[in-house]
Amino acid sequence: MQEAPKSRSFIEEFIEQDLTEGKVKGAIQTRFPPEPNGYLHIGHVKALYIDFSMAERFGGSCNLRFDDTNPTKEDTEYVQAIQDDIRWLGFKWDKMVYGSDYFEKTYEIAEDFIQKGLAYVDELSQAEMREYRGTLTKPGKNSPFRDRPAEESLDLFRRMRAGEFENGRMVLRGKIDMSSPNVLLRDPTLYRILHAHHHNTGDKWCIYPMYDFAHPIQDMIEGITHSLCSLEYEIHRPLYDWVRDNCTLLDAHPRQIEFARLKLTHTVLSKRYLRALVEKGYVSGWDDPRMPTLTALRRRGYSAASIHDFLRRVGIAKADSVVDIRLLEHCVREDLNASARRAMAVLDPLKITLSNWPEEKTILVSAENHPDHPEWGTRELPFGRTLYIEREDFDENPPPKFFRLAPGREVRLKSAYIIRCDEVVKGENGEIAELICSVDLSSLSGGEGASRKVKGTLHWVEAKSALPFEGRLYDYMFGDEEAAAEPEEGAEEGDEGENAAPAKPDFLARFNHGSIKVVKGFLEPALGELSPGQSFQFMRQGYFCVDPSSRPGAPVFNRTVSLKDSYRP
Ligand code: ATP
Ligand code: MG
Repeated sequence: MQEAPKSRSFIEEFIEQDLTEGKVKGAIQTRFPPEPNGYLHIGHVKALYIDFSMAERFGGSCNLRFDDTNPTKEDTEYVQAIQDDIRWLGFKWDKMVYGSDYFEKTYEIAEDFIQKGLAYVDELSQAEMREYRGTLTKPGKNSPFRDRPAEESLDLFRRMRAGEFENGRMVLRGKIDMSSPNVLLRDPTLYRILHAHHHNTGDKWCIYPMYDFAHPIQDMIEGITHSLCSLEYEIHRPLYDWVRDNCTLLDAHPRQIEFARLKLTHTVLSKRYLRALVEKGYVSGWDDPRMPTLTALRRRGYSAASIHDFLRRVGIAKADSVVDIRLLEHCVREDLNASARRAMAVLDPLKITLSNWPEEKTILVSAENHPDHPEWGTRELPFGRTLYIEREDFDENPPPKFFRLAPGREVRLKSAYIIRCDEVVKGENGEIAELICSVDLSSLSGGEGASRKVKGTLHWVEAKSALPFEGRLYDYMFGDEEAAAEPEEGAEEGDEGENAAPAKPDFLARFNHGSIKVVKGFLEPALGELSPGQSFQFMRQGYFCVDPSSRPGAPVFNRTVSLKDSYRP
């Protein structure tokens, strides 16, 4: 059972009101209608979270409907991935359907609209139609075909379906109001000719309904009571209502309610933009851990619980706002702080030789797996003469307040001994090659000398037993916070495909090419067999998750998030 958002949202208030006024017969029914033309991103997840949690909150159910009224390319990959993502989040849909399953019914309703004088076939060219439409400040004018007899429209519409005309030759339009201040109501296109293969219906159709006509009909067929969608559809609502109220062949009264679209700083949330990043090779794929897709977040180490937590905190507002991406990071950090085992890994190794430790001697020291869970036990770490520490944990000329290692200074190696740096060995180019240190043999953690305090504690690994690994460290895809301020494209819904405006090139120019850094480090050997998706806290370095490209003996880790939390609510 998913927990509903804490405070009552305006959507819950609307639904309660509808229930009180007896406007809903039977149970609440919602739907999540993704277009299977890409992977789900965190914005879609907000929508589906609302669709599923509202249904659940009122004891109803939610359908998964693939919105495939546009003939689309091969998209079984996306259809599968969307289902996997929803299941992974822990939601269960009632029915799984395709918008294209309803093509016949939608067509029948279109004929009914023609017969009732609510729709007509228009033969204006696209350019003429644009001109006749008017502008925001100027009313449109009626097409000369607007008042043609219904029988004539019906005949043409049937011939459109039969394939007699080429693409763009004519369209079916709703007869509403060419002078409406809402341009969408100026006789909107309901059907267009498109000789294109459809993944589900094959070559059966060469006319396809537009989103604004198809969507309310689909909702009515499924008995949707509340059709929840993002705010850019608000201006489409009068059209939604027009279709619904005139659709007498179906008995249902769905209500469209809009909520704020999720925007996040430092990233883009739009399939079109994300696809451009994938196709142009800016990222390695839809699951590149920098992407805001669910598949990428999962690979990066986000749990379903952390995503639920994030959406709960974002809440269901009516007004659009940009959410700080650090809130998302804050949620996964809290989750992993509680659930991830601790381990030691050195990302940028600097070799240390302990001059007073015998060459052959290796002992095991004991380290706790989680500071808050003594019941998770301890693990044994080999300790010997040669070790690695983090290069940045040593400074030859330490600035004030640098409490890590420096010439002549002491630090504690976590769960082991106190060491002192006696000598700095340099390579040919003057770079620091190695440190010669001495160990205080009476200072073993947990032993008698453990009480001696020094200012710094460092993580480390023993050189001979350490496992080499690859670490991938990530930064934001877009340095500027306002990356999310991409132009709204929702108003063009249903007009995608060949009519869609291409992604703006300047958005790619702002891509942060330094957003991935690959390091070769060393890992404590106690981690044992690693499986993809496993998460650890690498002491002082952040939370890391095993990548699917890991192989036995060659682990690859993604940094989910660093330890430092800069999020301020
Ligand atoms: P995109 O612009 O990313 O292509 P879309 O709206 O075309 O998004 P759909 O697959 O049609 O993608 O969207 C499915 C549902 O997800 C819709 O109901 C839409 O309102 C919702 N949705 C899409 N993006 C967001 C977002 N950023 N925040 C909230 N809801 C969203
Ligand atoms: Mg869409």
